[in-house]
Order: sequence, then C-alpha cells, then structure tokens
Amino acid sequence: MIHFLSLKKINQSFEIAFQDKMKQFLEGGLYILGNEVKQFEANFATYCGTKHCIGVGNGLDALVLIFKAYIHLGKLQKGDEVIVPANTYIASIIAVLQADLVPVLVEPKLDSYTINPDEIEDKITSKTKAILPVHLYGQLCEMKAINEIAKKHNLLVIEDAAQAHGAEWNGIKAGNFGDAAGFSFYPGKNLGALGDAGAITTNDDELAEVLFSLRNYGSKVKYENEILGVNSRLDELQAAFLNIKLKQLDSENDFRRNLAKRYLSEIKNDKLILPTYDFFKNHVFHLFVIRTSNRLGLQHFLKDNGIETMIHYPIPPHKQKALSDWNNLSFQITEKIHDEVLSIPLNSSVSKTEVDYIIFKLNSYNE
Ligand SMILES: *Cc1c(COP(=O)(O)O)cnc(C)c1O
Repeated sequence: MIHFLSLKKINQSFEIAFQDKMKQFLEGGLYILGNEVKQFEANFATYCGTKHCIGVGNGLDALVLIFKAYIHLGKLQKGDEVIVPANTYIASIIAVLQADLVPVLVEPKLDSYTINPDEIEDKITSKTKAILPVHLYGQLCEMKAINEIAKKHNLLVIEDAAQAHGAEWNGIKAGNFGDAAGFSFYPGKNLGALGDAGAITTNDDELAEVLFSLRNYGSKVKYENEILGVNSRLDELQAAFLNIKLKQLDSENDFRRNLAKRYLSEIKNDKLILPTYDFFKNHVFHLFVIRTSNRLGLQHFLKDNGIETMIHYPIPPHKQKALSDWNNLSFQITEKIHDEVLSIPLNSSVSKTEVDYIIFKLNSYNE
C-alpha cells in the first residue's frame, strides 16, 4: 500500500536530532514558554520576513486570537463581517464565529481553488471590516488584487496560512502579505510538529503586544492580568521539534514542487483535471488535488491498486450540520469542487518508484 502520508517516515529522518533535543529538554527542566519557544518565534519571524511571531496552541487559536486582539484594540467590533472563501477548511469559518464576528462566504476560482477577487466587492457592506484569504492546498491567493480591494474599502487582511508555510511571491512569503497571519503546525502540514502547535505572524507592534499577553491569560507579568486572555501557548517541546524541522522546510517544499512538476508533465488522462501551477514558488503543494466527475470510481480504482488517496474536503462548510443556518445557501463552484476533488500522495515520504507507479496507474484509469 502506498500511504497518502507517512508521518512516521517523515519524522524518522529527524530522529537523532529529536532525541538529542529531548535529552537537553529533560536536563533543562523548563516546560512552558522557555527558550525553545522564544527561539522558534525569532526563527519563524525571520523565515517569514515579519517583525513578530507569536507562538500559540494551534492554527485555529492563531486566527481566533488575531480577531480577538483586533477587537481588544477597537479595530474590530462584535458583529463585523469578515469575507471568507466558501470552500475553505471549516477552521477558518469557526475562527471568525468564535470571535463573535460574521463570516461572509465568497466563491473560489475553479482553476486555482483560491478565493475569487472579482467576487469580493459584491459582498462588501458597511459592516465588512476584514478579508480572510486562505492559501488553500499551499497556493497563494491573488494577494495583489485582494490587498488593493482591502485598501480601497479600508479592510484588514488576515491570512489563513495554515497550508502555505514558505509559499512565496515576488520575494514575499506567506504570512507577510497582510496585517497578520495564522499558521498551523498540525503534524500533517508542510511544517508539522509532533502534536498540536500554531503561530501568528505580523509586522504590527501593537497587535503583537496584545497577542503575547492574550495567549497567556492576558498576562505579561506573572499573576497580573491586564485583559481576559486564554491559555493557548506554543508548547516548549513542540517548539523544540519545530526549530529542528524549520531548517528542512525549504527542501521539503522544493521536493513537493518537483514531484508536482512530474505529476503535471507525466499524468496524461482526459478524465482527470490537474491543478494549475505556473512553476513559481507561489505554491508549496501542501496537497496535490486533482478533479474528476466520477471521484468515487477513481478513488476505488486507486485503492484497489494499492494507492491511498484523500478528499479535501468531502462536505463544504455551508452544507455541514454544524452550520445549519447556511444549509439552504448555494455556492455552485464550491459544491462542484467538493464533489470532484481527490488528493493523491505528494510529500517527501513517497519514493520515486512509488511516483512512477502512481503516474502509470492514473494514466491507465478509464472508467
Ligand atoms: C489546518 C488548518 C487550520 C487549523 O489548524 P489546527 O492547527 O488544526 O487548529 C486552519 N485553516 C486551514 C486552512 C487549515 O488547513
């Protein structure tokens, strides 16, 4: 069986470094907000080119805390509307709701799967205060167009960069295109911890100061609470692992892009629609997502041939039970995407012979 993603294989290559670090960790005896977190915050801010990085518990909290910090600063108010792509992973939408803001869904483009800038202005009302572009599957949104719209209407731009660590356009990296960005280091992401972890990047000093406090009970000095914060700190041990893995992020992304290039040039089958990619660094291929009208047929065919695939995602947010108020809404492009997409194995745990085999099988598919 060719697994969709073997985290075991990916993390085994770091085993010795992890064990050395674990030994130091036990000798150090400092478990919460220690040097590893500080180091990672400095390293990741440098990597993204931003002034600040604030480590938090996970990717969802990263986004929620950005919104809450802006509410604290008076730049957002409860009930304000936030533009979100309709085909995102539900976390982006939950983050908006958790901060008592109102998500307004906008269709993506069918070729890039990222939010369609041409559809944004129609959805802007007097209550719209922010745009949350999601770099879905690892591909940067059209940030130039989005930032122009935001500037014209005086909106905040908050990137959901949970799938796009290292994606780059014109020398600018994901996390540095807007006012602030949320990252996830969930184990399966391009930069993944060995558990839950997340971070926020921003160039805004005032926002960063609030966030450093908000993630830690609203406290900068122990037992002095200035604001009502939460407990969502980046774990010290996860930060230690991330400091090791960050050094390999660029090579992981290069590997993924090269594999994607192979798939794009060698998969030749009229029944399959491949992702669009312009061969720049604006895509880090968190996922390689193909489309076909008979998705279930293709998935079964590949499974019968020993190739594991996944669907990102089978049900769009507006059709989820948890968002029942939206179940009657219709987003045709989003629904088409959710009916047709299938993700095939693409990461550094897939060997060259496995790739040859996957290509061979996809080219022989004829159902
Ligand atoms: C993974 C992900 C998140 C949430 O990250 P967690 O660390 O799982 O909370 C948010 N948005 C998108 C687009 C994601 O893929």
